[in-house]
Amino acid sequence: MVNSIALIGGTHGNETSGIQLIRNWQDFGLPTRFDELNVSLNIANQAAIDANVRFIDEDLNRQFTFERLATPNNAKEALLAQTLNQKFGPKGESNTDFVIDIHNTTSAMGATLIILEADEFHISLARYVKHQMPEANILLEDEKPYLEHAYLCTTGKRGVMIEVGGQPQGVLREDVYLLTEAMAEAVLDFCVAFNNGTLATVQLPECEVFRLGENITFPLDEAGKRTAMIHHALQDKDFEPLLPGMPIFRTFDGHDITWQGESTTYPHFINEAAYFKLDVAFATAQRIVL
Ligand SMILES: [Zn+2]
Repeated sequence: MVNSIALIGGTHGNETSGIQLIRNWQDFGLPTRFDELNVSLNIANQAAIDANVRFIDEDLNRQFTFERLATPNNAKEALLAQTLNQKFGPKGESNTDFVIDIHNTTSAMGATLIILEADEFHISLARYVKHQMPEANILLEDEKPYLEHAYLCTTGKRGVMIEVGGQPQGVLREDVYLLTEAMAEAVLDFCVAFNNGTLATVQLPECEVFRLGENITFPLDEAGKRTAMIHHALQDKDFEPLLPGMPIFRTFDGHDITWQGESTTYPHFINEAAYFKLDVAFATAQRIVL
């Protein structure tokens, strides 16, 4: 059973869709078909929201490893993580069955459900969401065990992220908001079906899943300055096949840099604004079926 569910917005203060969805559901109520669920509606980082920034001192969504939780520094988000871990966790011995954390990306990723495990529960969830919302993308980040992730959602016994874009930081776009709402409702509909045991009676078709590969960084010169930008042929092509030889960067002196991978990959988080300081250009993924 999924008895306790925490829905969270505002983990990043300038990702407005989840913040607005939480506020609207607080003001107007959840759709009544979710009355049987025990859902708490939460805003994670009010100070960052007030400042309209991703975070004040440090990225809140990178604070939730056991190591960081055990030895917090004085950063505002490190201290906030302690409070949130008590509220939703504690991680590893959690009181919350399912944490659903809502984010935006500036990349054209549409409505993406990020799952961190490919066990029976999450495969059923992925299939259900994809069935209810065919335009959804499923991203699997299982490159490390669930509890080793630094994400806020890992304070729950289970945790997922809803990641919707492209939307500029601090901006609320209606189309992106509606996708966010539809995906959050699809995840909650799954919880209802899971609890009622009705999932076992329907055979959900297998679905396409993108499994995270690696981060690709921008080309830099010896001084660490970028020498290229995302190629227009790649921009906004999140989750579309990228074949060896296709252009990925355009250098500032006018040359194309092509994808040199051995096989087709599925880029995402292309030109994500929040990864600017990390010089991450995009992430790769393998297409699998689960
Ligand atoms: Zn975010």
